[in-house]
Amino acid sequence: MAEGRVLVTGGAGFIGSHLCESLSKKFEVVALDNFSTGRRPNLRGINASIVRHDATKPFAKKLSKKFGKFDFVFNLASPASPVDYANLSIPTLLTGSLGMKNALDFAKENGARLLQASTSEVYGDPLVHPQKEDYWGNVNPIGPRSCYDEAKRYAEAICMAYARQGQPVVIARIFNTFGPRMRLDDGRVVPNLVGQALRGEPLTVYGDGSQTRSFCHVSDTVRALELLMSSNHSGEVFNVGNPEEHKILEFAEKVKELTGASSQISFLPLPLDDPKRRKPDISKIKGALGWEPKVNLEDGLKETIQWFRRRVKK
Ligand code: NAD
Ligand code: UDP
Repeated sequence: MAEGRVLVTGGAGFIGSHLCESLSKKFEVVALDNFSTGRRPNLRGINASIVRHDATKPFAKKLSKKFGKFDFVFNLASPASPVDYANLSIPTLLTGSLGMKNALDFAKENGARLLQASTSEVYGDPLVHPQKEDYWGNVNPIGPRSCYDEAKRYAEAICMAYARQGQPVVIARIFNTFGPRMRLDDGRVVPNLVGQALRGEPLTVYGDGSQTRSFCHVSDTVRALELLMSSNHSGEVFNVGNPEEHKILEFAEKVKELTGASSQISFLPLPLDDPKRRKPDISKIKGALGWEPKVNLEDGLKETIQWFRRRVKK
């Protein structure tokens, strides 16, 4: 990426704020957010202009008038935690469809390159392991996760349609990312378990905890997004994640160990359609851009625990 002006939709969210922070060292950054799941304090101390706006409503005129031309668009707006998108199912679908189209039209008008933050959820409950970009997925179109999974699949489809017409677009399928600035109450496994351990409460493991996830530190994810944006790849999709796979029960034990908590594990029912195994095959991005994660789970978790420790109310 050369110098220029960058729009980050969803810029006040967890990943978006880290991305804005990193980009702000080189670019003029504008963060557009409706604060549905993100928070203004995430951008405190970061050199970014904040525009409160719902991405489902067109924003080209408003932004062009205020800032002029943009060179890059990172489209991150969307609830991302299963609890958030269950509570916001219709806004999630509209953000993935109308919001995505608005971001593409904005990029097109500006002659800007766009990166879409897609997700490993497009693979659904995968029948192929590990997941490679050419796997088409196993998604329940009417289940509780479908508002997110199908919105993101639609978003990929419309990105590809624009790319086939010449709009430069690259798609990152992001796998579970964690780190400071996750909301303690967003319901995802990292804030839930770390918060519970720090409060001395039982750690809630859903099902028998044999389901797996691969956790990528947010600094690694952000570096991948920036590399993809600076590349010439267009009309292509890349997995972004850490290929180290962990059972959720093992992860809970790790949280206990690193927090020093003596909490019990409390087993609760597994949510419907919860993917059983997930691990990215990252050979494509590694081959194309030399990217691979640098932060291991233990180091990343220690930093994240420190961050939550200052915020947990006992
Ligand atoms: P987040 O909820 O912290 O951030 C999303 C941001 O988008 C929030 O600030 C929210 O207020 C904003 N937003 C939502 N709808 C909007 C709308 N209509 N208009 C304007 N702003 C809107 O979530 P996150 O974890 O930072 O995820 C960021 C992006 O990365 C999402 O698109 C998500 O699907 C994708 N992603 C995240 C992960 C992960 O593990 N964190 C994994 C895969 C994909
Ligand atoms: N999970 C859990 N306890 C919790 C929250 C989540 O056992 O308190 C499990 C969840 O069932 C899933 C995994 O942890 O198998 C990751 O969940 P998360 O919501 O973080 O992300 P997902 O990958 O499902 O989108």
